[in-house]
Amino acid sequence: MDCIVVGAGVVGLAVARALAQQGREVVVLEAERAIGTGTSSRNSEVIHAGLYYRPGSRKARLCVQGREMLYAFCASHGVAHRRCGKLIVTTDAGQEDELAALQRNAQACGVDDLQWLDAADLARREPALRARAALLSPSTGIVDSHGLMLALQGDAQAAGAMVGVDSRVVRGVAVDGGIELEVRSGGETTWLRARTVVNSAGLAAVALARRLEGLPAGQVPTPYLAKGSYFSCTVRAPFQHLVYPVPEPGGLGVHLTLDLGGQARFGPNVEWVEAEDYQVNPRDGDAFYAAVRRYWPGLPDGALQPGYAGIRPKIVGPGEPAADFWIAGPAEHGVPGLVNLFGIESPGLTASLAIAAEVACRV
Ligand SMILES: Cc1cc2nc3c(=O)[nH]c(=O)nc-3n(C[C@H](O)[C@H](O)[C@H](O)COP(=O)(O)OP(=O)(O)OC[C@H]3O[C@@H](n4cnc5c(N)ncnc54)[C@H](O)[C@@H]3O)c2cc1C
Repeated sequence: MDCIVVGAGVVGLAVARALAQQGREVVVLEAERAIGTGTSSRNSEVIHAGLYYRPGSRKARLCVQGREMLYAFCASHGVAHRRCGKLIVTTDAGQEDELAALQRNAQACGVDDLQWLDAADLARREPALRARAALLSPSTGIVDSHGLMLALQGDAQAAGAMVGVDSRVVRGVAVDGGIELEVRSGGETTWLRARTVVNSAGLAAVALARRLEGLPAGQVPTPYLAKGSYFSCTVRAPFQHLVYPVPEPGGLGVHLTLDLGGQARFGPNVEWVEAEDYQVNPRDGDAFYAAVRRYWPGLPDGALQPGYAGIRPKIVGPGEPAADFWIAGPAEHGVPGLVNLFGIESPGLTASLAIAAEVACRV
């Protein structure tokens, strides 16, 4: 084969589309029985503007590029989305400095449309919100992640790509002229050889890379899992914008996002875990009520219900500075034809089309 993409999450599907549209022969291999059952369907579905990342980093660059590519793609492909904007709010004295630092960081990342709102502006725009000040990010939005993945799959298939579900890549070997992969599908084991392999296996990308014979061990990071749980809101939240606190270590803070039907959910928190586990602990509810009531004191008792959880594929542990997306091709690790994608946590959904363009350039 010409190209194999391992993993049919939003990034794998975007990569498959980009390669197929370049005229490459592409097969996507997905371990589960359907596309997009991993992190791509366990997130906030927010189109991030690109405020938080280190200026000059891949996350910063690919988020800003990817966000505009995503808005254009959604508009041209009929994918449900809304540029609803978000507020990052300060609730305590002294947090204004953090907000100002965030605004400077955003500007250095090329996000220059943030507006500073004082308490009076906020009271006019979002009367139910309790905050001292806020940054309004008009370029932030929401997207139907499943609709997006179906549209990416449709485009990829229209350009000739094939998507094989229930096809788990178990291990691989770098050989002359490509990479051989052992694939388990429908109870059978097959070996496939491809000139190009893109490892886009999300949470399993590191484990798979460790089973690729010929890839130097130093070219594979240590994986960590940071779970994020959500609570859904059973009453209608009185907000037009997404509402975020100032960010916390490991995540963006328990924020309010709205789905395209206007239903609110809160999350994700940050819990470092040893294994994949998607149960939401109802006992976390107390901490959620406390976090949300800092900016929405009117949240009624009994309004929060355990929702769902996702897991961030981290490549640095608790307390360490945030890592950048790790996109490594032959120039970095020396294996011809192989591209590894590690640590594709947030803003991976927003950046998916830009990540795909970058991968397509490398192969
Ligand atoms: C709590 C949380 C909130 C987030 N919120 C946002 C947000 O609001 N906005 C944003 O931009 N980003 C957000 N993200 C990040 C975003 O969801 C991810 O970056 C993105 O979904 C990653 O997509 P992916 O395709 O790399 O991974 P995945 O969606 O995990 O896809 C990987 C696929 O590979 C398959 N696979 C694994 N192993 C194998 C194998 N051996 N063989 C074959 N297939 C295999 C899996 O089954 C899976 O389908 C969030 C993430 C989390 C955890």
